[in-house]
Amino acid sequence: MRILVSNDDGISAVGIAVLEEIAKQFADDVYVVAPLTNMSAAGHSLTLKSPLRLLERDSRHFAVDGTPTDSVVMALRHVMPERPDFVLSGVNADSNLADDITYSGTVAAAMEASLFGIPAIALSQKISKDGSINWDIAREYAPVVLKMVMNNFKFGRGVLLNVNFPSGDTGSVKGIKITTQGTRAIDDHVIQSTDPRGDPYFWIGPAEYRNKEDHNDLSIDLGAVHNGYVSITPLSLNMTAVSQLRALEELFT
Ligand code: MN
Repeated sequence: MRILVSNDDGISAVGIAVLEEIAKQFADDVYVVAPLTNMSAAGHSLTLKSPLRLLERDSRHFAVDGTPTDSVVMALRHVMPERPDFVLSGVNADSNLADDITYSGTVAAAMEASLFGIPAIALSQKISKDGSINWDIAREYAPVVLKMVMNNFKFGRGVLLNVNFPSGDTGSVKGIKITTQGTRAIDDHVIQSTDPRGDPYFWIGPAEYRNKEDHNDLSIDLGAVHNGYVSITPLSLNMTAVSQLRALEELFT
């Protein structure tokens, strides 16, 4: 078994070392190819207007001075001599739920692998209220999820899995829920302040979830993680809104 590990928090992040450890429980051939710096919220962006540099740390660890998507492309097209059987992205420091999936570089790295036809899983660990991260939750539950998926799940075309681990004490996880993507329903806060030269600057600030309904529904990613369950959501790269096709067709025929 051959596994590629990537992320968006950067090659020096704690979470990617956690995921490498986990990957090695399943594969004897593990490559780590990831952004040189933290590229969180890079989404599925690809660097086209500047060159990419590849920094080889050793024969299995490579940093790319680009995005998560760049890293996966470099891994699959240049670094790895053979195709991996799985691509794992993460473990991200904090969850990737609901609409935040569209910003997520963690999910995007898995999306890119999926475009290459390789089964891919994004993994994220929710941060506790005090700002700490209990990686032991991911350490305990990622192998459970991966074992089941690797042995028994056939990835459909353009399908990837988005896995989120709840925060909390080790041993407090209530179980695993298969979920749908929720709705965040929020405006990002833009915070204005003044720099040392007196000029205004702006910072996109912390988001607040207003959609409390999704927080109580265990069949939705937000609700499952909020209530202490591991959430697994199958995501599709095909973004066609099938439910609206008919209405549009009727308008234009
Ligand atoms: Mn991140």
